[in-house]
Amino acid sequence: MHRAVFFDRDGVICRNRNDHVKSWEEFVFLPGVLEALARLARLDLYIVVITNQAVINRGIVPVEVVEDVNAHMVRAIETAGGRVDRVMYCPHRPDENCGCRKPQPGMLLMAAEELGLDLSQSYLIGDAETDMQTGRAAGCRRYLVLTGRGRRQLIRCWFHGERGFTVVRNLGLAVNAILRRESEWDGVPQGLSSEGSDR
Ligand SMILES: [Mg+2]
Ligand SMILES: [Zn+2]
Repeated sequence: MHRAVFFDRDGVICRNRNDHVKSWEEFVFLPGVLEALARLARLDLYIVVITNQAVINRGIVPVEVVEDVNAHMVRAIETAGGRVDRVMYCPHRPDENCGCRKPQPGMLLMAAEELGLDLSQSYLIGDAETDMQTGRAAGCRRYLVLTGRGRRQLIRCWFHGERGFTVVRNLGLAVNAILRRESEWDGVPQGLSSEGSDR
């Protein structure tokens, strides 16, 4: 079985905007993200971005633009030495009651089926209570970053009794925690061993 690191996009990889990221020009990588994703890319884990984009079905941002922004993001990450294996987005509004809008775990389940993942041995990094709920529903190890909406959302988590996740300052420190954990896991960081890896 394979494993993955799931990342939320807005507030984790790029700067969160209250008026939403509506174009590539409005997409700003948070400090240290590109370097951290390059470090993570050496591991034998799928890297998957999962993002709620209700702006699509609200008619605020066309689906083509969301896909264009994501494609630019992936290219920039690759240029910096990282990789993204999948970008999944939910286009639905909350009132559509879909199974993929976080906190529903639909995107994780879909990724698990497509990629053959053991979600209970996978990781999820987000800046919102809904991310933590999504990860809990799927049994992932979770990290809440304090970038984006993280600080306020941490208080929401406390208030609602959502716990069992690790709080880290930013994506870079979440990646470091994963690298550390993976290196302790079997003594050799996944993907760095001389044995061939079939991620
Ligand atoms: Mg977010
Ligand atoms: Zn959805």
